[in-house]
Amino acid sequence: MNLIDAMVKTKQGGSADRETIARIQKRRLHKLARYARANSPYYGRLYAGVGDGFCLEDLPTTSKPEMMAHFDEFVTDRKITMRRIDAFTADLDNIGRMLDGKYLIFQTSGSTGNPAVVLYDRQNINVSSAVAAFRTFARNEDYRAFRRHGKKTAGVFADYGFYLACGMSRYLQLKMPRQKTKITVDVNAPEAEIIRRLNDFMPSMLSGYPSNLSLLADFEELKIRPDVIITGGELLTDAIRKKLADRFGCYVQTHYSCTEGGEIACECSEGHLHINEDWVIVEPVDRNNRPVGFGVQSDKVLLTNLSNYIQPFIRYELTDRVIVHNEPCKCGKRSRWLEIEGRTDDILEFANGVKIAPMSLYKILEEVKPIRRFQLVQRATDTLELRLTAGDREAAFEEAGRDLLAFFESKGLPDIQITRSDEPPTANKTSGKFQHIYADFEAGDDR
Ligand SMILES: [Zn+2]
Repeated sequence: MNLIDAMVKTKQGGSADRETIARIQKRRLHKLARYARANSPYYGRLYAGVGDGFCLEDLPTTSKPEMMAHFDEFVTDRKITMRRIDAFTADLDNIGRMLDGKYLIFQTSGSTGNPAVVLYDRQNINVSSAVAAFRTFARNEDYRAFRRHGKKTAGVFADYGFYLACGMSRYLQLKMPRQKTKITVDVNAPEAEIIRRLNDFMPSMLSGYPSNLSLLADFEELKIRPDVIITGGELLTDAIRKKLADRFGCYVQTHYSCTEGGEIACECSEGHLHINEDWVIVEPVDRNNRPVGFGVQSDKVLLTNLSNYIQPFIRYELTDRVIVHNEPCKCGKRSRWLEIEGRTDDILEFANGVKIAPMSLYKILEEVKPIRRFQLVQRATDTLELRLTAGDREAAFEEAGRDLLAFFESKGLPDIQITRSDEPPTANKTSGKFQHIYADFEAGDDR
């Protein structure tokens, strides 16, 4: 499917009624599942007992550990192997370039369990672009202002590695080298540099992680006047939404995406995240993969991405907890919408009032290759406890400690202590929730 086809189909899907969407889903699911069974040895085995007249619930589920354990058989192109991908991704110059001229390669974070490798074929790229083109903006007036101001977009993200945001922006940059409407600023660059680049560029749309944008908003030197702010990567809390809206005088919204599923849900003018049901199927389930129904908090999501044929994600487990709503939305869109329980790590405060956003630390630690899972707990103003599970714990602590200290020093914090913990990363005993980065000390505990 070329870009024009993807645009036409996405435009049609956006205004379709429930019945039409159900028909489209069923047709696309059958086509994808048949293709997966015929071209992926893994799905061939998994679907061996599935008859031709199957419905979604007849298909066995799959997961990230399953996929990564059988990667070479999971993909539908026999030339693609993990060995070749490892060689390709060892060269950072390949970020945003296509393997075999056909596939973009992305890696997900390694800190929340098992990292995943995800390939996008052209169809999946085109559908992502089409959904972004039609459904990014919650309000039409923001889109009109964005067009009027030359579609200038600045993203404050981790500007390195084979992550989705970084890889996609590099891909577009390589494709259209003369286009000057998009910049990415590295989230962990010194604030003065981030502010200078944003002030020079004057974006119409600003995107980034909510906690980082919230800290940037405290700098009076930042003079930008965006038309809209679109956050991603962690939960946009009501407090940060309001703070950013007041500070920059513009609308603030978010969206729900992941590397495996692309753009899963886009926000509407009512602040609801509408599922892109023509291109993804979202099943909210309990921990045993049984459906929880509408209006109920799920333990997991089974995700089906209907546009990726090189690496079919069909009833693939995501650890996100969501509530799917079936009732109509006042905005007029007919698709179902969801609420997501997003990541809410703490902004940490250090000596002299220096504040560090959790995503900055998260992005440093997920670059430390041996780490499989981490947790960083602030125990005193200048002391952090690092908990790890890792292949080589010694090497992981060494590298993580060095990178964190270098980062703190660049923020004017040369005296941070990082202690190595024997405890594994642990969920909060009272709430059962897992936080990667949080503060746990009383002011009186401080030395
Ligand atoms: Zn709505």
